[in-house]
Amino acid sequence: MTMIFDGHNDALLRLWREGKHNGDTTGKSFISGNIDAQLDLPKAHKGQMSGGFFAMFTPAPDIINPSGGNILNLDPVDHDYARDATHAMFGIAEHLATNYPDQIRICLTADDIRAAISNRQMAMVMHIEGAEAICPDLTNLDAFYDRGLRSIGPVWSRPNDFAYGVPFAYPSSPDIGNGLTDAGRALIAACNQKKIMIDLSHMNEAGFWDIAAISDQPLVATHSNAHSICPASRNLTNRQLDAIAESGGLVGVNFAVGFLRPDGEKNPDMPIEVIIRHLDHLLSHLGEGGVALGSDFDGAEMAHALNTAAHLPRLVAAMQKAGFGETLITRICHQNWIDMIEATIS
Ligand code: ZN
Repeated sequence: MTMIFDGHNDALLRLWREGKHNGDTTGKSFISGNIDAQLDLPKAHKGQMSGGFFAMFTPAPDIINPSGGNILNLDPVDHDYARDATHAMFGIAEHLATNYPDQIRICLTADDIRAAISNRQMAMVMHIEGAEAICPDLTNLDAFYDRGLRSIGPVWSRPNDFAYGVPFAYPSSPDIGNGLTDAGRALIAACNQKKIMIDLSHMNEAGFWDIAAISDQPLVATHSNAHSICPASRNLTNRQLDAIAESGGLVGVNFAVGFLRPDGEKNPDMPIEVIIRHLDHLLSHLGEGGVALGSDFDGAEMAHALNTAAHLPRLVAAMQKAGFGETLITRICHQNWIDMIEATIS
C-alpha cells in the first residue's frame, strides 16, 4: 500500500466544534475514532495516511450554536475570537501530541516528518487557514511560530485585514475583488523571512498575483483544483497553474465534490475517476513534481467512494488503473509534499 501525506484537513476544527457541544477539549476522539469523522486515527491507519497539514480555521461564531450555524458564513470574524479559537485548536493538537506521543507528533521540518513516519506516528504540520488570529501588526506571529506554526493561508473565503479572499461561486472566475492589503504584504514578507509556508488556496486572483510578485517561496495551493474542469471560483485557472509551475510550486488536489464535479453540484454521487481527470490536468501544467493531495477531510462534502481517510487506497487504485506509474504515485501521495516542506520550511 502507498503511504499518504495530505495537504489539508479540518480535523482540528471538527474536534474543537465537538468540544463546544460535549465539553471535551482534549480531542481524544481523534485517537479512539468517531463515526462522524472523515479523518481520525483509526481511519488514517486503515487508509495508510501518515501525516498532513492540520488546519486551524475559525468559523463564524454562530457555528457554536446548538443549531449548528452555517460553516460557509463568509462574514468577517473578529481578531480576538479567532485568536482564542486558534489557540484552542492548537491546544487540541498539543494535547494529542503530549498524551499520545507514540501516535501523534507535531512536525516542524521534513526530517521530523520522516522520523514520525518511521515511528508510525501521525505527522502533523500546523497550518492557519485564514489569518484572522494573527494581529494585523504581526506582533503575535513569532509566538505562533515558536509554538510550531509552519504554514499560513493569509485569507479564507472572506475578507480580513490581510486580503479579500475568494467567495464561493459557481460558475465563476477566481478574479473577484481586491488582493493583498499593506498588512497582507507585510505578512508575506514575514513568512518568507521566518520560513512559514504560504498557502494560496482561498486567495482570489488579485491576491494570488500579488503573492506571486513578492514572495520568494514556490507558489503552493494546498487544496485546490483545475478551473478548466470545474469552473468554481476556488479553483485555479491554467494561467495560475503555469505560474505555480514556473515557481517550482505545487497543488494538492481537493476531494470536495463541489470543486471536482464539472457541474459544480455538491452531489456525493461521483466516481473517483473525476479526481483522476483533475490530476491529469494538473500534471499537464505542473509536471510530476508539482501535484499532490489536499483532501479537505472534515471540511467539505466528499464523494461516497472517498468520504473518509480509510478509503484512500481506492484513490491509489484509481491512479494505478489510470496508468500512473509507481514513481508518480509515490510523488503524488507523499514525496512531493515532503520535498516542498524541505524546500520551504525546513
Ligand atoms: Zn479550505
